[in-house]
Amino acid sequence: MSNDKLAAASLGFPRIGARRELKFALESFWAGKSGAAALLDTAEHLRRRNWLTQQEKGIAIIPSNDFSLYDHVLDTAVMVGAIPEGYGWTGGAVSLESYFALARGGEVCGHSHGETRALEMTKWFDTNYHYLVPELTEDQTFALTGTKPLDHYLEAKALGIETRPVILGPVTFLKLAKARGSDFTPLSLLDRLLPVYADLLSRLKQAGAEWVQIDEPALVLDLTDEERAAFVHAYAVLAGDAPKIMLASYFGAPGDNLTTLLSLPVAGVHVDLVRGTLDSLLDEAPSGLVLSLGIIDGRNIWRADLSAIIDRLAPIVARRGAANIQIAPSCSLLHVPIDVELETELEPALKTWLSFANQKLDELAALAGGLSRGKAAVAEAISAADAAIASRAASARVHNDVVSARLAAVTEADRSRKSPFAERIALQHDRLKLPAFPTTTIGSFPQTAAVRKARAAFNKGALDADAYRGFLEDETATAIAFQEEIGLDVLVHGEFERNDMVQYFGEQLSGFAFTKHGWVQSYGSRYVRPPIIFGDVARPQPMTVAWWQFAQSKTERPVKGMLTGPVTILNWSFVRDDIPRSETCAQIALAIRDEVADLEKAGAAIIQIDEAALREGLPLRKSGWKDYLGWAVDAFRLTASGVSDETQIHTHMCYSEFNDIIEAIAAMDADVISIETSRSKMELLDAFTGFDYPNEIGPGVYDIHSPRVPDRAEMTELLTLARKRLADRKLWVNPDCGLKTRGWDEVKPALVHMVEAAKALRG
Ligand code: GLN
Ligand code: ZN
Repeated sequence: MSNDKLAAASLGFPRIGARRELKFALESFWAGKSGAAALLDTAEHLRRRNWLTQQEKGIAIIPSNDFSLYDHVLDTAVMVGAIPEGYGWTGGAVSLESYFALARGGEVCGHSHGETRALEMTKWFDTNYHYLVPELTEDQTFALTGTKPLDHYLEAKALGIETRPVILGPVTFLKLAKARGSDFTPLSLLDRLLPVYADLLSRLKQAGAEWVQIDEPALVLDLTDEERAAFVHAYAVLAGDAPKIMLASYFGAPGDNLTTLLSLPVAGVHVDLVRGTLDSLLDEAPSGLVLSLGIIDGRNIWRADLSAIIDRLAPIVARRGAANIQIAPSCSLLHVPIDVELETELEPALKTWLSFANQKLDELAALAGGLSRGKAAVAEAISAADAAIASRAASARVHNDVVSARLAAVTEADRSRKSPFAERIALQHDRLKLPAFPTTTIGSFPQTAAVRKARAAFNKGALDADAYRGFLEDETATAIAFQEEIGLDVLVHGEFERNDMVQYFGEQLSGFAFTKHGWVQSYGSRYVRPPIIFGDVARPQPMTVAWWQFAQSKTERPVKGMLTGPVTILNWSFVRDDIPRSETCAQIALAIRDEVADLEKAGAAIIQIDEAALREGLPLRKSGWKDYLGWAVDAFRLTASGVSDETQIHTHMCYSEFNDIIEAIAAMDADVISIETSRSKMELLDAFTGFDYPNEIGPGVYDIHSPRVPDRAEMTELLTLARKRLADRKLWVNPDCGLKTRGWDEVKPALVHMVEAAKALRG
């Protein structure tokens, strides 16, 4: 890796394989169908292919240790010996069995330890990737249990490929970890952790690694002075006997952490120029510091404007010297699919607008070439990019005048219900005549093997449309009959026809495209194919009305219309980069609003608009919250406010932590909100009481994340806790979330107990 000319760098490549090889290898191993050797073989094969691809594409700086069998945060925890008790680890190397027990729970050693729970999982910054949360105790000690970064570095070296190993930095690692046993700040363990990192870095240096990439994305968060000081301390310790350090910040701008970042004794600094800007970087950075400019979007799938990027970066290269600049993606390419070329069914024009991981490597190489040898040297790449960008900008598939005109005409009145809640709810009570503590569920019923099999057969053409519809009608009718039989008050149709709560709507809206192979890791072996929103969003025709009508025709009790909200659809998709997110969100809101209107017209008295992903869209920095919550709440209100006072709007949010956003939740003005509260023993309700939340609430009393069937007493106890915090007349009784991941044998008794618990309260 010589540095005499400007280099294209990769910060990390997707691990999953273009054909999802890792998923299949993992699942076969977990099912006992193949052994560890086969799994490790697949893993090695994927690493080799990734290195070779990056090399062939002209990437000068290729990462190693970006590969993980499950999760890179888990790898780090395991490597430093941060393994809680109960996973069969007694020191030394960590077995695959213990590793997967940490990741997934389950049996360790087949016997004595019994069922072990998995580590908690949470979102990696504001991505849709989930990492396993390391658990640390106050008396935690650390030890190097393995040298995966070194092993992978050497593995690449043996193939003749010099790599830059990637490790997760100690400060971000501790910041992501969770205190267990007592209340302390994991960052206080830094001095115990640093020797382990120092040992690893020294070994990498001895093995010949010239550079190492240390990821510290925590540098883009709001940090306290102590946290900033921890960075200064950590890198003062680590810089001593280590390869040259490329310290990578990403997912935003360092902002007020920039001065700290630039004061660290490292050889290079990576900044995200897609979500952040240069700010004062060029003025403040010491002249010998290598700058890695993250200019290719690692979080989205649009083809880059090579010419514009070269124009933007050329003065920087001239100012600092090509040897001191690297061109990189904004972050690891983990968050984008691998190869657009596999998409043989995408519309050809659309396909040219896209860039997945492989294409981004080509873009990086072209940019490095153009910046070191002039635009003429990469004229072909530039003109292909220009043509694609021009075609996208002019496409009639992207711009829909009807949508823009409608959006421009939206007024505050469109976002407001006709009357205040107090008046509406009285009318709704008169219309619905529900008992006290009304019971309902969140929408989906078990997506059984039979349901998935029928869907797969239909998609393959093995089952015709009529037969498939007939099958779904039977499932729906059975679900309705079951709900009536056990005495639920407000019914749902069960969502059997839906593959996914976002995809189902995206497939029926214009402006959305779907890939065949565009998988992105969500966690472990779970991958998702996010929809691509490429154009103005509109709803050509009703999407859910026929299913609602069918379900309602089977019962006298109210069946809820069931929709996914605009913020959730937005947050779980790849979104346009040519208009603001807020604008796309408002377009989706108008489309779903039409569906709300059609459901109401068809007779639905209750319509639920799920916003499962509203909270996770919060910007990483608190300074961005107000703006986001402003337009997100506006979008929800625009979706929900076209109905008459007598129509009851529900929303559902399956998460905790409402304290800091409760005012925004209240501003959504849904008549009823259902939330997840059972695991926290109703503690989460405190947000709703401290603030005096005005509308009705269904705090979940049945933890649907577990196969365990709660008994009636347990739910009664939760309801008693809820009644201490909320007036009886506000209270609904429901599970935490949809039941699609559960089996009927769990759902049936659990819901029977739930209805009994509610009835007992009424009595
Ligand atoms: N209505 C959806 C369901 O029940 C809601 C899912 C969710 O909030 N994640 O499946
Ligand atoms: Zn939910």
